[in-house]
Amino acid sequence: MPSAAWLAAIILAAAPAASAAEDREAAERRRMTANIEQLAAAGALSEPLRLDPRVLAAMREIPRHLFVPEAVREEAYRDTALPIGHQATISQPFIVAVMTHLADVDPGETVLEVGTGSGYQAAILSRLGARAFTIEIVPQLAAQARQRLQALGYARVEVRAGDGYAGWPEHAPFDAIIVTAGATHVPQPLVDQLKPGGRLVIPVGPDRERQQLTLITKTESGRLRRREFGPVVFVPLQERSRKPR
Ligand code: SAH
Repeated sequence: MPSAAWLAAIILAAAPAASAAEDREAAERRRMTANIEQLAAAGALSEPLRLDPRVLAAMREIPRHLFVPEAVREEAYRDTALPIGHQATISQPFIVAVMTHLADVDPGETVLEVGTGSGYQAAILSRLGARAFTIEIVPQLAAQARQRLQALGYARVEVRAGDGYAGWPEHAPFDAIIVTAGATHVPQPLVDQLKPGGRLVIPVGPDRERQQLTLITKTESGRLRRREFGPVVFVPLQERSRKPR
């Protein structure tokens, strides 16, 4: 058994290395969020946006490199989507920031995400103080994300394997819903599960290769307002539980 002095020496030797890596990643996150803020202000998507500082702060804290496969870890803080297996991708940080900004989440709100993928977007929602429910159609991705979120301490996120087209009626209505896969149309169940005053952020378009980032807001009287924020590219939303009309 190593003596106490030995243990102390080992710990002292290891600590600077660990914190150097952490500093490097924290610095990469600062650069990433500064770049996102600039892109948004310059109107990189469509109109110039002044992003919510709380969204940027959350993204400065969350270790995106722990949400991507080892093989692409070096690229975790580049402003690009990355493959996470099963034909899914973790979205481009700039687009994640814009979608979260548009969802306008306050602490204590109940939020649904459709398309858990890596769990990164759900971690941001949780960091903003929301109670987050997230659904992923690929069971392996759902299981991985659940484990990862638990290990990283995001206790207020519930992950379910299933078809998010139908929403999550047991936890509805939601203050906000974020769909992180490209839909051909806005699923009616999601509109139905939105509270009055609620926000639904969803990439929509008939073209499976390209969508319009769309914000649907439900007014207090239940009317719907729709605004588009520019072209985006998402993996397709599977629409298996769509009811034939
Ligand atoms: N938000 C994720 C990225 C999502 S990629 C992140 O932060 O990492 C889109 C995900 O949507 C994929 O994992 C895909 O499997 C999933 N998906 C596609 N159709 C779905 C559906 N109908 N219900 C739930 N998840 C779906």
